Amino acid sequence: MTKSAAIHSFEPPRRTLMGPGPSDIHPRVLAALARPIIGHLDPAFVEMMEELKSLLRLAFLTQNELTFPVSGPGSVGMETCFVNLVEPGDKVIVCVNGLFGTRMVDNVRRCRGEPIVIEDAWGEPVDPNKVEDALKHHPGVKVVAFVHAETSTGVVSDAKTLAEIAKRQGALTLVDAVTSLGGSELRVDDWGLDAVYSGSQKCLSCVPGLSPVTFSPLAVESVKKRKHPGQSWFMDLTLVLGYWSAGRRTYHHTAPINALYALHEALVLLAEEGVEQSWQRHRAMHERLKAGLERLGLDFLPAAPYRLPQLNAVRVPAGVDEAEVRRRLLTEYDLEIGAGMGQLAGKIWRIGLMGYGARTENVERCLSALAAVLG
Ligand code: PLP
Repeated sequence: MTKSAAIHSFEPPRRTLMGPGPSDIHPRVLAALARPIIGHLDPAFVEMMEELKSLLRLAFLTQNELTFPVSGPGSVGMETCFVNLVEPGDKVIVCVNGLFGTRMVDNVRRCRGEPIVIEDAWGEPVDPNKVEDALKHHPGVKVVAFVHAETSTGVVSDAKTLAEIAKRQGALTLVDAVTSLGGSELRVDDWGLDAVYSGSQKCLSCVPGLSPVTFSPLAVESVKKRKHPGQSWFMDLTLVLGYWSAGRRTYHHTAPINALYALHEALVLLAEEGVEQSWQRHRAMHERLKAGLERLGLDFLPAAPYRLPQLNAVRVPAGVDEAEVRRRLLTEYDLEIGAGMGQLAGKIWRIGLMGYGARTENVERCLSALAAVLG
């Protein structure tokens, strides 16, 4: 191969990431990534895996034995929950109040389950009364699935109440906590959530590509009682746990070793701060951002009680070219904010305050750049 000037290492620009994720990575997490690789069955690595599981239990506030990071992004965590819990013919209530809920419906169909779709407007939380009614009208529902923190709309739904309703009718809950874990109140055991998946790249401020999951004993029992093996080999929990269970450690797939060092470090940072303190920091930064946005004459899509502190869905004022604002923020201020998705495309911006990004300096940087660009 001849040497060419076009071949060189990639040097990314330095940006401040204040969109819907990935979020900025803490320097200690970046440093962890660069540590020397060891084998994925090395005793030192196996010890780290056990710590990682304990740290994840602290983050999820659960005692669930089955708690580990799936090798793959949040979407793989989502599929892991669906392919293990939903068998052909199973009735699943899916609450849709944004883009990620629609993906859940697709997951149920691909598992050949029967989705019962409950819709709420994009920008509104899931309505627990509709879920209660649907459970009464459809006996034998196995799972109630919903997105706790809808990243496409900046809305939080009442996971505790939804879980209580599902439990009363004997259904399991399957919960998307991709954006909530570490950023807003999430109590897996106290709220009785059964299968929960998250992502590494949002409020954990880690590299994308890992999906922490946790399954309650009831959810595990349901997986064990399956009549048919799930359609996915890679995501079959009964197989993957051969690697992640203490004492077994048989080869399943090659773990993303350095990414797991990074997740471990991100969780150490969270444990050092305290999970509840982290929620409070996200809330305080949201309040600061909100005050500044209001001074700029901007307002939010969701009503105040349902706003996610870590994902601020802000209405684009009439007459403003929203894409041009984002382009200028990126090129002139090295600042990334997110666009609206699906039916909210062109109507909102999504300003993330996630994990390491939920800091005063980021809030001020965003507000002053927005003030300059909006004139
Ligand atoms: N669920 C929610 C609520 C999300 O915000 C995302 C990603 O933004 C996902 C699922 C999918 O995660 P990933 O992009 O890591 O596959």
